[in-house]
Amino acid sequence: MQLSIKENACIAPYCSMKAGGNAKYLCFPESPDELKACILLMREKDVKTLILGNASNTLFSDEGYDGAVIFTTRLNKVEVFGEKITAECGVPLSSLAMAAAKESLTGLEFSYGVPGTVGGAVYMNAGAYGGEIADCFSEGLFLTPDLQEVVLTRAEMGFSYRKSVLSQNGYILLNAAFALRKGDPDKIRAAMDNFMRLRREKQPLEYPSCGSAFKRPPNAYAGALIEQCGLKGYAIGGAQVSEKHAGFIINKDNAKANDIIKLIDYVSDTVFEKTGIRLEPEIRIIRNR
Ligand SMILES: Cc1cc2nc3c(=O)[nH]c(=O)nc-3n(C[C@H](O)[C@H](O)[C@H](O)COP(=O)(O)OP(=O)(O)OC[C@H]3O[C@@H](n4cnc5c(N)ncnc54)[C@H](O)[C@@H]3O)c2cc1C
Repeated sequence: MQLSIKENACIAPYCSMKAGGNAKYLCFPESPDELKACILLMREKDVKTLILGNASNTLFSDEGYDGAVIFTTRLNKVEVFGEKITAECGVPLSSLAMAAAKESLTGLEFSYGVPGTVGGAVYMNAGAYGGEIADCFSEGLFLTPDLQEVVLTRAEMGFSYRKSVLSQNGYILLNAAFALRKGDPDKIRAAMDNFMRLRREKQPLEYPSCGSAFKRPPNAYAGALIEQCGLKGYAIGGAQVSEKHAGFIINKDNAKANDIIKLIDYVSDTVFEKTGIRLEPEIRIIRNR
């Protein structure tokens, strides 16, 4: 087994924010066995590991990561069994939605255009346009921290808004099954095209970002609160609150990761001072080595 591993490599090119320092190792396993082998190898070296998909919701500081980042993007098999679709953890959500549409299966249209992988989406219970992963997740095969394989069903996933049990138990998703329904192929395609059009219209897709920087607070919208506080367009270094969508923090001009983090903190503090509402980052920030 020839593992693909880079040593002391910059994380930025692999993260959708295009910022962040170096990691001790970057690993790119091509199968579940290689993924396990990467973890075992790093344990032998006494190096901590972090599993990532597309890093479209993760931001590392400029100090980087004193461990191994294992990217799952090469684990990308999809299979369809009747009304069920199974996908390895590195499958991009848009490919998953397209594979479902090809079989006239409805239920995953909302995920079309979310730039994450199945693993990141299950971890985050990703959602958009009224749908979320919890709606169609059926069961998943996971690796426990002691590298045992276990199956968790939907009921065991503790799904809530942008959250699952994975943030507590440290399990790694290897593959997931989604229960869908037969639908009208034209309607499925039209819904997907519509969601993509809305994204292009409303989101600053021309700049690197991690999508919505903050979770939606109860009974309010983060973007509206940020705009109301006069922060639309506010910048620190190359990082900016998007002028197109105030809920997005973008890497406008070669931003330092630490400027992006400072801006996230500044926006959260300013909105709290002015409205009493504390915005919680939706982006997972890895602040310390
Ligand atoms: C332009 C843009 C638009 C976006 N729109 C949306 C949207 O509409 N809705 C939405 O919810 N999000 C959105 N996002 C955010 C992001 O794409 C989602 O949260 C996505 O689900 C993250 O997937 P990822 O593979 O990139 O996760 P990563 O950032 O790689 O990881 C996120 C978390 O998941 C964990 N993780 C990753 N893979 C696994 C695995 N196999 N097993 C266990 N844990 C794992 C990581 O450790 C990390 O904690 C958007 C982002 C961008 C840049």
